[in-house]
Amino acid sequence: AHQPAMSPSHHGLGWDASGAPTPMHKRLDGKVAIVTGGARGIGEAIVRLFVKHGAKVVIADIDDAAGEALAASLGPHVGFVRCDVSVEEDVERAVDRAVSRYGRLDVFCNNAGVLGRQTSAAKSILTFDAGEFDRVLRVNALGTALGMKHAGRAMMARRYGSIVSIASVAGVLGGLGPHAYTASKHAIVGLTKNAACELGAHGIRVNCVSPFGVATPMLINAWRQGHDASAADDADADIGLEVAVPSDQEVEKMEEVVRSLATLKGSTLRPRDIAEAVLFLASDDSRYVSGHNLVVDGGVTTSRNLIG
Ligand code: NAD
Repeated sequence: AHQPAMSPSHHGLGWDASGAPTPMHKRLDGKVAIVTGGARGIGEAIVRLFVKHGAKVVIADIDDAAGEALAASLGPHVGFVRCDVSVEEDVERAVDRAVSRYGRLDVFCNNAGVLGRQTSAAKSILTFDAGEFDRVLRVNALGTALGMKHAGRAMMARRYGSIVSIASVAGVLGGLGPHAYTASKHAIVGLTKNAACELGAHGIRVNCVSPFGVATPMLINAWRQGHDASAADDADADIGLEVAVPSDQEVEKMEEVVRSLATLKGSTLRPRDIAEAVLFLASDDSRYVSGHNLVVDGGVTTSRNLIG
């Protein structure tokens, strides 16, 4: 039989010329997925990869313009629903929308998150603002728990499903972000373990992925706040809705900082790398993996490279 040519860099997997997997390797074929915060950054990479692997995807985000534009550009199997993950009715509606439109829910990715303000006053345990702490915890921790609640409810009916949340290396180590962010990301790792214990009885797997630095608008806004006194220091800037898209130069600078810290040399951590880890946990390739935190960090959390 005719064997299609394969790129040696893909280790023998079947990929076509555009980088899309051949049908045999569509790992989410016919599956229905929701990705929160899917309008840009890491979430956008997850949405794009899920679509390439045959999934029908609902993007759930507060950025209507970006979310709708991305959905429209990806064809009829991608929809957008406005959803603030810290508001329970929004999360419930996003899940109900996916189930009523596509008849089921197989994958829920809790990706939406905020970093919080980056000024030194905001970052210190001695001076942090309680309202700001609450805001970050509501989006990152409560938002993730609400995703698990409503996705779990929808998945139980078919005794099948995979919930994948985006934690962070700041969910494993201290000293990598503002206190609220670190607390919220540790909370996601804990919620993952707890929910895996409970939902496993219903055939539902629950895992998380912990990225190191990826040069997305989130990280670049934070970097701007740290380096430019005139950069906006408010919630809108954190969410990024009102902030200019990062320039190529800013992305390159950020990537260089991350490369200098990673143990693994010769590669740059990109949104697609996080998406590949999420895809593994979302698909049946990981059907016996639950309660796990898959760290994607170029070896940082297992090395001493962050010191100094
Ligand atoms: P980003 O700011 O570039 O994108 C986040 C997306 O989430 C945006 O589309 C935004 O509109 C949406 N969003 C924000 N608040 C929301 C809410 N309340 N409800 C629904 N949507 C909301 O960020 P990113 O870097 O792509 O981060 C994605 C996830 O990855 C976050 O959970 C983040 O904490 C995590 N993470 C990022 C990095 C990194 O270096 N970029 C590292 C570790 C973990």
